[in-house]
Amino acid sequence: MVESQLVSRGIKDEKVLEAFRKVPRHEFVPENMRYAAYDDGALPIGSGQTISQPYMVAVMTELLKLKGGEKVLEVGTGSGYQAAILAEICRKVITIERFQALSDGAKNILDRLGYDNIEFIVSDGTEGYAEETPYDAIIVTAGCPDIPQPLADQLAEGSHLVLPVGERYLQTLTVATKEKGKLKIEKSIGCVFVPLVGKYGWPG
Ligand code: SAH
Repeated sequence: MVESQLVSRGIKDEKVLEAFRKVPRHEFVPENMRYAAYDDGALPIGSGQTISQPYMVAVMTELLKLKGGEKVLEVGTGSGYQAAILAEICRKVITIERFQALSDGAKNILDRLGYDNIEFIVSDGTEGYAEETPYDAIIVTAGCPDIPQPLADQLAEGSHLVLPVGERYLQTLTVATKEKGKLKIEKSIGCVFVPLVGKYGWPG
């Protein structure tokens, strides 16, 4: 998976590639889907949600430009796979999910795999998580109609917010970097994520 899906498509950050080599993706996939755990695509994980395509997880992680030592906020825990990749690289991961069942499922897997630097929150992640602000990086793994203002506010100076922004079923990967208190916006590749549902997202 790492060589044929990530390196071959231009993922270069060694920290990102190393994290992918370590995290067992099959653990995050329902048992009846395990045969496809290392395939080049998203997979259903229950509650109508998906574990993202490995390449998309890699691109988004690389765009955060992590050095190690960061405190990162993830919105959209889902299976917990992206949280595990982040936890391999960073000091601390705070991950928010709106479905209790998905958050509990992810916590079970990540506890069992021995991760002790991930905090699980069940709430509307479009409001961020003010208690731990500011964040050295923020990633949203669900499609946003626009950049949620609370996330912009909770981002540290010089840090990156990576998120899909666009229509309900088709978005553009977007990087917002905080420079002198303002967001500099850069557009990356097209993508398809499940909708971000909440106060600063889509209606339910
Ligand atoms: N990062 C995940 C992929 C998650 S799919 C992984 O690695 O598997 C997107 C997730 O975002 C879904 O689980 C969905 O329930 C969640 N989500 C959608 N809107 C949300 C919101 N407002 N707050 C928190 N989570 C949300």
